[in-house]
Amino acid sequence: MRILRYPDPGLKQRAVEVDPVADPTLRDLVARMARAMYDAEGIGLAATQVGVLKRVIVYDLEDGLHALCNPRIVERSDDLEEGEEGCLSVPGISVPVRRSASVVCEGVSLDGKRVVIEAEGLLARLFQHEIDHLDGTVILDRLDPEQRKAALKAYHEAQSQSA
Ligand SMILES: [Zn+2]
Repeated sequence: MRILRYPDPGLKQRAVEVDPVADPTLRDLVARMARAMYDAEGIGLAATQVGVLKRVIVYDLEDGLHALCNPRIVERSDDLEEGEEGCLSVPGISVPVRRSASVVCEGVSLDGKRVVIEAEGLLARLFQHEIDHLDGTVILDRLDPEQRKAALKAYHEAQSQSA
């Protein structure tokens, strides 16, 4: 499974909600996404990043593989935190992104069970980053124009060096 790279137009697409009970292909999708994520040594991946417009994410913060369908932020802290973020679709750079410091994320498991996760720190950041992907937003879109310009320059340099 190939991971799309910025500026692939697929990354700008909005994914649609899924019904894990009615969609038997999701388990296979999750397995393939997990393989792509681990191969790229990432900690999270959204289905839009592999060109599949379904609201599915996988992640592993060194505590095993998790998959979540239809994730959404139902509560967020007022306090924001800036942190460096990388992205498998924008490889070679990291940029400072301001996110809610803690969130409550709700979703559905592959078994169709409702899941509610209280997250802070890296996990809170990960949920916001991956849900952004499902809405067609990448980290570069979270920067102000000056930061974005610098980030794009660094990105293009990183790409030409790895090519
Ligand atoms: Zn990403």
